[in-house]
Amino acid sequence: MDRSDLVKESFVKKEVPASIPAGKTSDYFGELVFDRKKMCKYLDVESLHALLDCIEGGKPLDRKTADGVARGMKEWAIEHGVTHVTHWFQPLTDGTAEKHDSLIDYDGKGGVIETFDGKMLAQQEPDASSFPSGGIRATFEARGYTAWDPTSPVFILDDTLCIPTVFISYTGEALDYKTPLKKALKAVSDAAVPICQYFDPGVTKVYSYLGWEQEYFLVDEGLYSARTDLMITGRTLFGHNSSKNQQLDDHYFAAIPPRVAAFMRDLEITGHRLGIPIKTRHNEVAPNQFELAPIYGETNLANDQNQLVMNLMNRIARQHGFVVLLHEKPFAGVNGSGKHNNWSLGTDTGTQLLAPGKDAKGNLQFVTFFVNVLAAVQKHNGLLKASIASATNAHRLGANEAPPAIVSAFLGRTMTDVLHKLLEVPSDTPIEIAGKKGKSVGLVEIPEIFVDNTDRNRTSPFAFTGNRFEFRAVGSCANCAGAMTTLNAAVAEQLIAFKAAVDAEIDKGKKTNVAIMDALKPIIKSIIGVVCFDGNGYTEEWKQEAIRRGLDVETNVPKMFCEFTKPAAVEMFTKTGVYTEKELLARNEVKWETYVKKVQIESRVMVRMAINHIIPAAIAYKTALMKELTLAKELFGNLDRCGTEVRILDRIDRYVEEVGVKAEAMKEARKAANAIEGEYERALAYHEIAESLYDLRRPIDKLEEVVDNKLWPLPKYRELLFIS
Ligand code: ADP
Ligand code: MG
Repeated sequence: MDRSDLVKESFVKKEVPASIPAGKTSDYFGELVFDRKKMCKYLDVESLHALLDCIEGGKPLDRKTADGVARGMKEWAIEHGVTHVTHWFQPLTDGTAEKHDSLIDYDGKGGVIETFDGKMLAQQEPDASSFPSGGIRATFEARGYTAWDPTSPVFILDDTLCIPTVFISYTGEALDYKTPLKKALKAVSDAAVPICQYFDPGVTKVYSYLGWEQEYFLVDEGLYSARTDLMITGRTLFGHNSSKNQQLDDHYFAAIPPRVAAFMRDLEITGHRLGIPIKTRHNEVAPNQFELAPIYGETNLANDQNQLVMNLMNRIARQHGFVVLLHEKPFAGVNGSGKHNNWSLGTDTGTQLLAPGKDAKGNLQFVTFFVNVLAAVQKHNGLLKASIASATNAHRLGANEAPPAIVSAFLGRTMTDVLHKLLEVPSDTPIEIAGKKGKSVGLVEIPEIFVDNTDRNRTSPFAFTGNRFEFRAVGSCANCAGAMTTLNAAVAEQLIAFKAAVDAEIDKGKKTNVAIMDALKPIIKSIIGVVCFDGNGYTEEWKQEAIRRGLDVETNVPKMFCEFTKPAAVEMFTKTGVYTEKELLARNEVKWETYVKKVQIESRVMVRMAINHIIPAAIAYKTALMKELTLAKELFGNLDRCGTEVRILDRIDRYVEEVGVKAEAMKEARKAANAIEGEYERALAYHEIAESLYDLRRPIDKLEEVVDNKLWPLPKYRELLFIS
């Protein structure tokens, strides 16, 4: 099929009806998850209590209990037609990994039976040598192992029982995203609990919450299959702007096309059956761009659910004749996709620590956490940016769409005023909810209706939105754990330091609330006018101002990764027990290596497509034009009537030459880069190549503008971007 047939076919495609679920959402929500309800039904009392102690209290599970738990799980799984089991983990690649084992074993009587025991549940040893490890594990020692994470429930996907696991090397280093995330969550809880106990001695645990918003694009699968660049790199490497793209703002929140709505519906039903609380769906700003978001949850589980959702999106999109694009910048000239990470902390007694409280005490607790989070973000602003940096997210960083390549925090008017006021008043002044104490002279106040009324600033990468912070810089295809590990660990470090400062004030004989305020004041002074910035993050003036404030403005991704091994980061991560220095070094090797490979693949695809697709199309048109000119010359003796054709021919010649020369130069640059020894140095060289992709793209997009539409081999932006 040629391009015009594919376009026609995509246009007339009707929606595939979504499946019809049995009953209301609440009837089937979580039916494929081994949750508490199933634990109570399928586990014996002893196993149930041991498992709950393990999940809630972090107590280890012994082998006998694990056997008991496995027995119950097996019974439940077989009732659902399960035949296989897998440890489901998150190596340092995009996406998750799984190796399925059938449940069968010989029964000793010539047949087979289904088996599943505590050992299979608790641990597996996949051959780890084919996963990125940054040299932690030499290939001759190919053993890494996966170990069950009981805090994330087991679930069923098709015929397979999936067990969420961590993935670690034989010598104990983390080879995945989950292990450090869990350590960071423990660190932030351990650091936050003693501070909460100033306010409520009953607090024993602090949870970190994550509510992700997943943006994505859909394209028709027929058109997708005709774009080698999309298929191999996940983004278009060239393509002239469509005359109409997002300039009319007519896609955001518009009616969802029926084909897309059916896909979303199926995705939601599947997600709900898997216990993922998907809540919102809508059209995003760019054509063909959409978003979904669940109700927020505990960070480790929420992150697993995001990984699973990305997986489900890929599968379900295909059932609807679409391919989902999770790349951060699949199309130039229209917005890219991110994954806002809404983040907050809360106690096991039900208090939200980043939302105003009910009384002065609650408000002081809120301000305490609010200010300390900002201090952590300020201290580690470069590192936080590094935590979201990747070869693919680089196209969004610093472009005029979230996020700017500078991590600052948006507070909004109310909280900015509160902080200023706190510096002026005596340390024992209560922070009231407005209106409660009558006329408010000299009081520090927070408006009663706050959460719904907080102002928004879409240009800030880290914005306070009333009861949480929204880290907007995370990439759409990233594992949220990268950002969440760094943020939670940085906050943990800050809270530890803060606790020491408060205790020093208490030792001077001060009352707790005064001691807290006296410890907060110097921090407030240090963050106002540095990390706090409510203005437009996209302007050049802000960049200059940020440099004056000492914020990190680096845009070179391989260089950003160096933040992870600077002394401040090593100290923070080791003190909080999240990464060892060895792990940090190894992970940077992986990051540079991944960066190099991604750019290398893009550059190869681009050069090959330029030579095999673009130049031949241009030459075909050029040949047709030359034939016409020859004919004209024969007929009229001159080319007077062929001015336009001559001009087009000129342009084609110029662009083709430019493409040819630049493609050749890119190949040479790759050769030179490949010969460089160190991962970091090679990544720096590939950063230059990444930049030069834009240069090669320009003449190709110009050719698309002049070459006969019928001869152009690749679906154009205007054809890819408008699902009807
Ligand atoms: P918006 O586009 O206005 O930011 P959405 O409704 O698309 O809002 O997404 C907001 C996300 O923030 C949801 O996932 C929601 O559950 C989550 N969220 C709300 N409150 C909190 C909180 N306290 N902590 C973490 N996430 C939260
Ligand atoms: Mg949001």
